[in-house]
Amino acid sequence: MTADAELTFEFTPNASPVPANERAERLVNPGFGRVFTDHMVTIRYAEGKGWHDAKVGARAPLTLDPATSVLHYAQEIFEGMKAYRLADGSAALFRPRENARRFRDSARRMAMAELPEALFLESIRQMVRADRDWIPEIEGGALYLRPFMFASEVFLGVKPAAEYLYMVIASSVGAYFKGGAPSVSLWVSQDYTRAAPGGTGAAKCGGNYAASLAAQAEAIRRGCDQVIFLDAVERRYVEELGGMNTFFVFDDGSIQTPPLGGTILPGITRDSLLVLARAQGLTVREAPYAIDQWKADAESGRLREAFACGTAAVVTPIGSVASPDMRFSIGNGGPGELTERLRDQLVGIQRGELPDPHNWLERLD
Ligand SMILES: *Cc1c(COP(=O)(O)O)cnc(C)c1O
Repeated sequence: MTADAELTFEFTPNASPVPANERAERLVNPGFGRVFTDHMVTIRYAEGKGWHDAKVGARAPLTLDPATSVLHYAQEIFEGMKAYRLADGSAALFRPRENARRFRDSARRMAMAELPEALFLESIRQMVRADRDWIPEIEGGALYLRPFMFASEVFLGVKPAAEYLYMVIASSVGAYFKGGAPSVSLWVSQDYTRAAPGGTGAAKCGGNYAASLAAQAEAIRRGCDQVIFLDAVERRYVEELGGMNTFFVFDDGSIQTPPLGGTILPGITRDSLLVLARAQGLTVREAPYAIDQWKADAESGRLREAFACGTAAVVTPIGSVASPDMRFSIGNGGPGELTERLRDQLVGIQRGELPDPHNWLERLD
């Protein structure tokens, strides 16, 4: 462990937190990403000085110089993870070390300072400890944690910044899709791609999302819920949604997901579902899947189910797929049997209701 990882956090409680009765009201139906907690974590980095000034304090606006580097050159990365309330009232995180490692990988790709994993983990624990009363008790509720980091140096030169600000904020959340979404409809983007070989597709950076929004807006205009991207080279192989990985379930009981390889975000939900599927003896392929094959398989019945997955929405069935020259639906348009089974297993582990053979749950006290 480096000296950086042993930084101690200075804790200054919020002097005027949201009153308990008002908090309770906000937690009844929080939606997603609108209800924020009382505190935030900040840690600073400067070249030559390393990581310093670790704090937990009242959540408050930032003041930024207009020449702050991130506003011009977009060195920004983030993570998304959840703290769950267990039956015994304690809180738990799901595979937080994977988020810590991915955050470092993202930083490296964006030529940013790398936060030591132990420091990342401690910042998350501090955040949950400060705001654990904000974990909603509603079904499917969680405290969504958003660690992020950006170039905070005041300088207009094009180079990796010499200063960074790392932060954690938290949002009390319910279901990601309004109404719990029995299934989503997808629009296959023809004009836009999400990630090219050698690009930033495997990094969790804000820029990838900015680049996906025109395609997502087009999906909505075409009457679909979400955009799905094809590979940038052949414009043929299915990659992922703007913020979720994809899985396909076949009539022989096998499942398939596109392989990682630089253009797909290595989702922790994706990895967990692969582990769960393999552990129950299912045949699992990480292999490219062409959009024309998807259509043919959906129409022949060889493909039974398809779903998208990620921390925010967990597992979401894909009901139909459309593009300018085709449209097909999957199964009966609702959640399939295996999709539901995998989802229930994952959620059961996350909420401490099922055995946790892979030691994925990290309990906090
Ligand atoms: C975060 C993210 C995912 C899902 O990752 P999880 O670790 O499962 O939450 C998938 N695709 C993209 C583009 C993402 O940013």
